[in-house]
Order: sequence, then C-alpha cells, then structure tokens
Amino acid sequence: MMGIADAILCCPVCKGPLNDSDAYLACPDCAVVYARLSGMWDLIPAGSSALKLSEREHYTEKVDYYRSMHATWCGSPFYRHYHAAFLEDLRELPQGSLILETGCGLGHDGLELLRDGYRVVETDISPGSLAEARRLHAEEGYSHASAHLLVDAENLPFASGSCDGAFTVASLHHLPDPLTALREIRRVLRPGGVFALGTEPNSWQNYTIYPLGKLLLGAFKRIAGKPIVVEEMVSEADKLTEGFSRLQLAGLLREAGFERVILKPAGYLSAALFFLSTELSQLLGRDLRTFPLEKAAIPLDEALGRLPLLSRYPWHWNAVAC
Ligand SMILES: [Zn+2]
Repeated sequence: MMGIADAILCCPVCKGPLNDSDAYLACPDCAVVYARLSGMWDLIPAGSSALKLSEREHYTEKVDYYRSMHATWCGSPFYRHYHAAFLEDLRELPQGSLILETGCGLGHDGLELLRDGYRVVETDISPGSLAEARRLHAEEGYSHASAHLLVDAENLPFASGSCDGAFTVASLHHLPDPLTALREIRRVLRPGGVFALGTEPNSWQNYTIYPLGKLLLGAFKRIAGKPIVVEEMVSEADKLTEGFSRLQLAGLLREAGFERVILKPAGYLSAALFFLSTELSQLLGRDLRTFPLEKAAIPLDEALGRLPLLSRYPWHWNAVAC
C-alpha cells in the first residue's frame, strides 16, 4: 500500500527525485542510499552535528518519561488552551489537507488533526519518539492517514510546494539553525499554505526565571539533601536555548520567506502556574498542580496579551504565517 508521503518524497540534500525499491530509497545524484529503521524511512543525511545526535538520543532514551509527563501536562488548562489555539489556525485548511509536522515528538498534536480528518506527515529526529507517535496513531486507527519518517528539520525530504499546511510545536528552539528549518518549511508549503508555530519559549525567562530557578533548586538540594532529578531530564538543546524575543521570531519567519506573520502571546499567569506547580510537584513527589487557578487565569492572560508593552513578554509564543 502506498503511504501518504510516498508521492512527495525527495532527496533531503539535493531535493532531486529518489529511486525506490522495497528495501531502500536512493538518490542517484548524491549517490546515497536511505534505508528503514524499525520500519520507518530514515531520511536524515549523514553527518548530523553533535547537538542533533544528542537530541536524537535524549528523546529516544527518555520516551517513557515524556509519555508519563504528557499524561500530566494534557490535563492542564494552560496546555490545552494554547495547543488548541495553534491547531485552530491549521483547521482553516479543508479536511483531507496534507499537513507536515516537524519535531512531532509523541504525536499528540498530530492525533488531534487526524481526528479532524486531516492527513498528517509526522517527522522527528528521534526514532524512539517517532515510533511512539506511530504506535499512538495506529492504536487510534489512523495508520491510513498518517506517515512517520525520520527527518532532520533543516533538511526536509519533501518536494517544494507539496504540503497544504505545516506546524512545529515547542521544537524550533531545539534546532541549531532555526532559520534553515523555517526556510525548508516555507519551501515545502504550497502557495497559500499555512504554517503554525506552537508554544516556543520567549527569551526573557533566560535572564530571569531560569537562573533564579537554578539558584532555588541548589538551595533546596542543600536543605533537603535530595538529588535534583529535574535537570537530568532536560535535553541539551533546552539547556542551550535562549528562546526567541518577539523581534527575533518575527524576523526569522520573515527572513524564511513568510509574508504574513502573526505572533500570538501564549500565557502569562497560567503559564507560570503550570510550570511552577509542575516543577514543584516533581521535586516534592506530591501533586501540587492548580488547574482551577490556571483555568481562571486564561481570560486574564488573553487580556494581558493585548496590552502594548506586555504583548512582548508572554511566557510562550504561538504564531501563524503564510
Ligand atoms: Zn540527492
């Protein structure tokens, strides 16, 4: 049976056509052969940077941890509201549209689109995460409408103009070269195609919350004599990222070739409550989450996002571009 991505595949490097057999895909121009890994095409070009390899390994090794974390995140009103918000931008596309996700992780956002009747091409650099996404989509009965490919978001193996929509969630800041990835997404979108960006971190936290958090964790460790398990669960790219200011993110999207760019503040108080209560719950081994408070904060957050100065300093960014 033909997979939904087969017709749009191309060489991730030269973008030329691939010769296919059951066992491999080959680029005659690059003289390179791509094979399957655990039944999924591995179209990642050779020579990935150390950071990319480290992300690949982290999200494969820790897949059980992220599965259990997602089970706690997905009940959060903050999480639900701002995920629904960027998915809403993609739902403007007609049902059956082909939507690409880069950095799909465990595939939960893709599942929402599959349920709405879209065809979803899921890509990730981590075989562990991608296999989990494939398992989830098969379990829910969407194998026919989804494809799962190992891909480096900076080298997309899809023909230009081949996708109706694309999205990436909390993933852009994991890439060494986000501009290249955005250019690739722009390239594979058809004219008028929609790109949605979900929950990318703003930059101000790196100068405020995170250093303070580290300090407090250190103090906590000394007082409680407990090992800090939180830090070990953070990927290399998450440690290195500085997030994106409004100017940086809008600039990247425009430089990548998007003409219409709308940045949307995603959370203030609801985000702070979500992250602080999640971290504290983990540290203390007790559920200290505050979902009713989080929920009550969302209308306030929406209002804060419309104020001129505060609109630059949400916790996260959502964006839509075309
Ligand atoms: Zn090639």
